[in-house]
Amino acid sequence: MRRLDTKLMHPRDQITMIIDKVYRSGLTTTSGGNISVIDENRDIWVTPSAIDKGSLRPSDIICIRNNGAIEGRHKPSSEYPFHKAIYKARPDIKAILHAHPPALVSFSIVGQIPNTNVIPQAKYVCGPIGYAAYELPGSEVLGEIIAKEFIKGFNAVIMENHGTVVGGTDLGDAFQRFETLEFCARTIINASTIGKPNYLTDEQIDEFEEQIPHLLPEMKPVEHPSDERAIREEIKRIVHRACTQGLMISSYGTVSVRWRGNDFLITPPKVARWDIQNEDIVQIKDGKREPGKVPSRSTWLHQEIYRRNPHVNSIILTQTPYLMAYSVTAQKLDVRTIPESWIFLQDIPNVPFGSHFTGQETILNLLSKNTPAIIVNNDSVIVTGDKLLGTLDRLEVAEFSAKSLTMGASLGKLVPINDEQVEALRKKFLG
Ligand code: 13P
Ligand code: ZN
Repeated sequence: MRRLDTKLMHPRDQITMIIDKVYRSGLTTTSGGNISVIDENRDIWVTPSAIDKGSLRPSDIICIRNNGAIEGRHKPSSEYPFHKAIYKARPDIKAILHAHPPALVSFSIVGQIPNTNVIPQAKYVCGPIGYAAYELPGSEVLGEIIAKEFIKGFNAVIMENHGTVVGGTDLGDAFQRFETLEFCARTIINASTIGKPNYLTDEQIDEFEEQIPHLLPEMKPVEHPSDERAIREEIKRIVHRACTQGLMISSYGTVSVRWRGNDFLITPPKVARWDIQNEDIVQIKDGKREPGKVPSRSTWLHQEIYRRNPHVNSIILTQTPYLMAYSVTAQKLDVRTIPESWIFLQDIPNVPFGSHFTGQETILNLLSKNTPAIIVNNDSVIVTGDKLLGTLDRLEVAEFSAKSLTMGASLGKLVPINDEQVEALRKKFLG
């Protein structure tokens, strides 16, 4: 997996870039959390203590030299003792991220660990999860207790009545683990609000991992005319926008756009979605792929959707926290909530896990003008549309509807728009 590309960045810049994403994604408060990176000198770079996490600058980052000398204009994080203890216990760990993101805190205050088998990629992205008993923040004992969990091989640890700490081979790796684990926690909580979450078996997860990318033959030569390059730019922007809007996470998500005829452009697998660049996107032309590039594992499905649905010009396949509640409980999302939802979505069927793998016809048989979105159980949601911005909008409408239904579940039963009202909407808006 190519993570957020931080390798050539100075630790100060890596840390400020990631803490900014963590804050803006609603994964930390202004005062909570801390991040560190250890370099080849074994100097540790760490966020300052009690300084606004929403506006840190590279010059705010503190360096603790390997001889213990502290450099910087603030005090280092009060949790430096546990960062130090983890680096000592696990020389393979080069970056650490700690925060109090709401869903993982929910687990930490009821003494539970989220089961990452709820979605296919999380088991390997997060690895097995440890649990550290409560201790006083900033204490050496807390450091010892957490380091003990890391020595067992865990790269992510729930801290009882406190939060979470994750380690990684670099800061991009740690961020992706943290983001994916919080996503699992949110999905499980949202699912439990409307029903009972189902979990994938290890065999199903292996089936997902072993999917072979649809390695179409390579084309040559390859051309990149202006309209093709414009699509690359559009896909990149929408992927980044989806990430900042909470509609996609680093470890999952595919976007494609029809180019000419049945040719299209599609995102690659194994690149952190926050970091997708124009050159990562893969051109598929006359059933051939751009030389030297690997397209998404769901390329076959995209190809068949374009071939069989001339009205579809863009596709987004992603995981969002409220739609996934319907996915992992296999519950049907009733979109007759408000006119906007029904007009944009009409009907969202659920299909079994694996239905989006190469060669499966279920999704292709269901998708149509009146069924533009499909929920794949324990995997994702697939949204189709004309222009890519419109497809993103449709995804937003679906996620908002799922959110309203989940939040409304404790208030009472849905009173849906009735058949007569639906017919009136059909007449006025869908002709
Ligand atoms: P610092 O601001 O000192 O890093 O502390 C934040 C925190 O999360 C303490 O556990
Ligand atoms: Zn903390």
